[in-house]
Amino acid sequence: MTAEQIIIKKRNGKELSEDEIKFIINGFVDGEVPDYQMSALLMAIYFQGMNFEEIFLLTKAMIESGETVNLDHLEKFPIDKHSTGGVGDKVSLILAPLMAAAGLAIPMMSGRGLGHSGGTLDKLESIPGFRTNLSLKEYVSHLEKYSVAMIGQSQKIAPADKKIYALRDSTGTVPSIPLVVASIMSKKIAEGAKALVLDVKTGKGAFFVSEEKSLELAKNLIAVGERFGMTVSALMTLMDQPLGNSVGNWLETREAIQALKGNGAKDLMDVTIALGAEMLCQTGQESNHKKAISKLSDILSSGKAYQTFVTMVKSQGGDVSIVNNPDHYPQSKYKRDFVSKKDGYVDSIDALKIGVLATELGAGRVKMSDEIDYTAGLIFKKKEGDRVIKGETIAEVYYSRDISVTEIEEKMSEAIHISNEKPGGDKKLILKYISSQKEVDWGSLLNG
Ligand code: URA
Repeated sequence: MTAEQIIIKKRNGKELSEDEIKFIINGFVDGEVPDYQMSALLMAIYFQGMNFEEIFLLTKAMIESGETVNLDHLEKFPIDKHSTGGVGDKVSLILAPLMAAAGLAIPMMSGRGLGHSGGTLDKLESIPGFRTNLSLKEYVSHLEKYSVAMIGQSQKIAPADKKIYALRDSTGTVPSIPLVVASIMSKKIAEGAKALVLDVKTGKGAFFVSEEKSLELAKNLIAVGERFGMTVSALMTLMDQPLGNSVGNWLETREAIQALKGNGAKDLMDVTIALGAEMLCQTGQESNHKKAISKLSDILSSGKAYQTFVTMVKSQGGDVSIVNNPDHYPQSKYKRDFVSKKDGYVDSIDALKIGVLATELGAGRVKMSDEIDYTAGLIFKKKEGDRVIKGETIAEVYYSRDISVTEIEEKMSEAIHISNEKPGGDKKLILKYISSQKEVDWGSLLNG
């Protein structure tokens, strides 16, 4: 068997066997299969796809490329949440401590931002000192002590995914369902979570813009997880405009801190609470979503979720004084208000265009090796559907790079559309509940 034969087989649309998948994955991790051959295979998978059996075997080979963590001994049920990525999505920062405060164990292994989409690790690391590189031993011990640990993918967890992701990023092969499913699920299974709630994004700022593709992604993620004995369900949520009010690492962390203190934006909290309620119901902590929602609201208003966040930050080496006094954080060099040119309504804020602009401002990376400016980003004062009058600020833009004001103005004008009429139609944020078990009508619970 050679790597070339495997590439040709997939290029010709044939099904790969378990031995072939293992051969190429192990060979790539060991350095015997070079980057150019793995890149060719990734492109063949991108165009030819994989059937469910192949996706399962690819996930298995990626899990087996590293270590797996066993969390069976934890007193509390270990459950994680994963988002397929978006703009302004700081849900994990709120949800992890909230759910730990609600009595679950949250083993959360997150990623870095790439391209237009942000990453939880970068947001956490915007807190001075915060260590996302806990060893696997520390990770387990933090879960035992604090019921929550938020870390990055170590060299030991699914190393095949780490190496493959770096190639996908530079070969145009990120948005491929088999590759996304194997990438996400290999990490989630290896990290030791027994259950998972997915936030599958759809819309302008998501990896998969169409609902149809996002649904296919969700179904595959669930089916692969279940085949490994994990309980998995998903909410499909809209990522047309940024979630919440801020985009950019520190700005988002700061918004998450406010949300943990009970002052979260409605869209941000609707998604957070919906995912949290599903976590409580999935693990049998609550019998129905209505009760779960009310329990989570009580925990937020009691201050317990915020306290759990502070404990987690402290336990992972972060500077708690900044969390308690966010105003002491350094400011970006420049701040520019983007104002409305006319009276009207905010018709749309294009999440993709805003995510790309935020990256250019310094909030994200184009290549994995790029440095991030934690203070760069945007704060929206208006969101879709809001009334604006001429001269009123729609968003504040924060940056330290030498970017021309004209360029920022142009890009903001392209991303934000103001209409004369109030936008019609009922844009739902939570579009679908996907599970192999049951149906939940989120429409009547949250999309109000
Ligand atoms: N997140 C991942 O971890 N992998 C992907 O392929 C896409 C999103």
